[in-house]
Amino acid sequence: MLPHLIGRPATRKRWPNGIDGPSFFVKEVESGIPVRLSRVLVAQLWGGRFFRTEPVERRIGDPVLGEPVCSVAGCDRAGDIRLLCRSHHHRWMAAGRPEMVEYVRSTSPQTLSAELNPGPQVLRPFDFRPVKGQLRLEWQYLLQCRYDEQRSRIEEDYFNRSVSFLGRSGAASTLDRPTERWLDDFYASTGWRNRRHYIDALWLSAERYLGDLLEPAGWDGEYPKDQWELRRLGFNTISRRLRFTGIPQPWLKELAKRYIKYRLTTGISLTQVYSTSRRSRVWLKQALSTGG
Ligand SMILES: [Zn+2]
Repeated sequence: MLPHLIGRPATRKRWPNGIDGPSFFVKEVESGIPVRLSRVLVAQLWGGRFFRTEPVERRIGDPVLGEPVCSVAGCDRAGDIRLLCRSHHHRWMAAGRPEMVEYVRSTSPQTLSAELNPGPQVLRPFDFRPVKGQLRLEWQYLLQCRYDEQRSRIEEDYFNRSVSFLGRSGAASTLDRPTERWLDDFYASTGWRNRRHYIDALWLSAERYLGDLLEPAGWDGEYPKDQWELRRLGFNTISRRLRFTGIPQPWLKELAKRYIKYRLTTGISLTQVYSTSRRSRVWLKQALSTGG
């Protein structure tokens, strides 16, 4: 393991009433948890192929890390404005903004003047140099998760600003503070105003990926909760969950959980489980109101 990780502080966040309820950080953790997080992070990154280097290079056309390619056939520049490169976008506007499909079909990359086409384009890399140790592992892991899941493109600008902000904060781990507080501090210290939802989404995904590493995987971790994160039970979903919060009677809740677990573990599809649980709720409500 990495020697500089040993003995570093880490915290554990808990959601005693499900993820929509209040959460708190366990400051005096059971021994082994922070080490476990570091170990898991190192193991995850070691298994990955890409992100152990400091600046992570980005390629044009990479669906997650890079920019899309310009829509004009034969143009190899990044199409970051309406899927056109800056040069073709400029020409499209100069041509009076014709129908895009028509414009793309009738344009060739050779029509670019040397002035508008300044040669090969290099994208700015993801830069981990401002963070060290655990923090670096955490954000390398985030990038790797997003890449492995082929989720939506990550803006290098938002990512690098977040990383350098974290580096200035002096924190040891992203989990040291609640995400809302990080975001407040980020906006206050950077004066950032536009497109906040992209930054919010980036930080929330960091919280989710890292939080998942701390939670015991599978039924041991999820069953006692009033809300099950289905991805933690091995289902291929980012955010779907099953809530038992609407059942006030503990015995009934337990019964419902046992039943749903049985249905989930006998291999039926998620759609079926959802329709089953909806029907069960209706049935339970009726039974309760008539049974008194
Ligand atoms: Zn182009």
